Amino acid sequence: MENNKCLHDNCHLDVYDGENKCIFHCEKTKDNGWIIDEEASYVDSKWNSKKVQDFWRKYSDKQNVKFPNNSLVPPFYSYKNFQEKDKNITLNLSNCKILDDFNIDENKMGVKFSLYIYKSIFYGKLSLFNFFNKSNHQTDIHLEETIHHGNIEFSSTSIDNVWIENITVNTLRLGIGDGKSHNQYENIFISNDNDKYKIENLNVKNTNVANGFILKNTVVNSLDCSNSSFRGKVEISNSVIKKYASFENTVFKQVADFYNTTFYQNNFINTLFEDTTSFIESKFYDNVDFKYTVFEKLVIFRKAIFEKSINLEDSIIKGEANFLNMTSRDREINIANKETARIIKHSFDKVGNTIEANKYFAYEMKKEMESISIKDDLNKKIMLNLNYWISDFGQSWIRPLSIILVVAVLHTLLIYGIDNKNFQIINSSNPMYNSLKWIVDFANNLAYNILPFKKSLIHGQEFISLIFLIIYSTLIYNFIVAVKRVTKR
Ligand SMILES: [Zn+2]
Repeated sequence: MENNKCLHDNCHLDVYDGENKCIFHCEKTKDNGWIIDEEASYVDSKWNSKKVQDFWRKYSDKQNVKFPNNSLVPPFYSYKNFQEKDKNITLNLSNCKILDDFNIDENKMGVKFSLYIYKSIFYGKLSLFNFFNKSNHQTDIHLEETIHHGNIEFSSTSIDNVWIENITVNTLRLGIGDGKSHNQYENIFISNDNDKYKIENLNVKNTNVANGFILKNTVVNSLDCSNSSFRGKVEISNSVIKKYASFENTVFKQVADFYNTTFYQNNFINTLFEDTTSFIESKFYDNVDFKYTVFEKLVIFRKAIFEKSINLEDSIIKGEANFLNMTSRDREINIANKETARIIKHSFDKVGNTIEANKYFAYEMKKEMESISIKDDLNKKIMLNLNYWISDFGQSWIRPLSIILVVAVLHTLLIYGIDNKNFQIINSSNPMYNSLKWIVDFANNLAYNILPFKKSLIHGQEFISLIFLIIYSTLIYNFIVAVKRVTKR
C-alpha cells in the first residue's frame, strides 16, 4: 500500500505535491520547483508563490501544529493566506530555519498575529508593518534564543507585548525613524543574559510605551531612546551601552531606574523625568551633561561613577537629589563647573550632611578660582589661591600643619641669623647705616604699637616677629577650619 504520510520522524501529515514528505518537511529546492531563481534579489521572484502560499494556508489551517525541529520555513506571504476577519493567528516556531526575509504586513492580512519563536535562525530580515490595535486581540512578539542574520524592524506598529530574550542581531529596531509617527507598545522586555547572544544596536526612537520598558543584563553598542515617551516604569539595569546612548527629548512618566548600567558617550539633553530617577551604581565613562533636563522628583546618584565630568549647570532639579558617595574610580571626581558643585553642595546642606557639603564647597571654590582671571579681580584671585594652597579650601588639615612646621624652622633659623649678626650687610661705619637703622627701628616700633601683639614680639625684632605672627595666625586659623570641616557633624 502506498504510504501517503510524511516520512519525517513522528510526522503524521500527508505528503505534498508528489513528494515523500509533507509541505513542512519536504525539501525546498529549485529541482522540485519551490525555488524559481536562486539569484533573484527580491524574495517574491525567488520563490514559487503558489507553493509558499499553500505552505502558509496549510499552516493557518493547522495553526496549533508546531513545526518540527529543523524545519525550513519559506518566506512569509501574508496576503491571501489569512483572510478571516477577527481571527487571531499565532505563529509558533521552534528550532526552525527561516529562509530569506520574513515580512509581516498586517494591513494585507486582516487578522491579528502573534509570534512565538524559540531557538530559531532567521536568514533574512524580520519585519512587521502596519500593526494596529483595531481588534480586541492581543498581539505578542516573543523571541527567545533566536539568531538573526538580518535586522529586526518594526514600523507603524501597535503591539501589546514584546518579549526578547537572548537573541543575536545587528539592529533591533522597535522605534521608528521619521519622527512623524510613533510605534506603540504596552510592554517591552529585553534581556540578553547569555554571552553567546548579542544585540549590536537597539533603537527605541519615536516610541510610546504604555506600561513598562525593561532592558537588563544586555550589552549593546548603541541605545537610541530619543523622542520617546515611557508612561510606565523604565528599568535599564546591569547593562552596558558601549558606544552611544541617547535619551534626548524623552519623557519618563514614572520611575526610571538605571541601576548599575554603564554608559560611554551619552545624551541626556532635554530629558524629562517626572518621577523618581535612579542612577545608583551607574557608570559614566564620558562627560555627562544633563542639559535642560528636568528632574521633577527625587534623583539619586548614589555610588555613581563619573570617569569624566558631571555637569548640572543647565539642569532643573525640582525635587530632592542624593549625591552620596558619587566617585570617580581612581581620581578625584570632576565637577564640570561651579554651579554643579553648588547644586551638589546645596543638596548635602539640605539634609545636614556638612562633611560632604564642605567637600563640594571646596570644589565650588576651586572652580571659582579657575574661572576668575587676574584681570577680573586680582584681590579675589590671590585670596582664593592662598586658601587653596594653604588648606585646599578647608579640606586638608595636614597641609597648614606642615606649612606651620616649615615656617617655624625658617623663623628659628632667621632668629639665629639675626642674633649672630649674619644678616648685617652694612657696616656701622657706612654712611647709610644710620638711616637704615632708623627705618628698622621705626618698623619695630610700629609693630610694637599694634596693641594685641605687644607681648608676643621679640625685642629688637618686632617687625619680623609681627610678620611671622600674621603667618602663624593665618595658618593656625586654616588648620582649625580644616579640622572642623573634616570632623564636624
Ligand atoms: Zn512532515
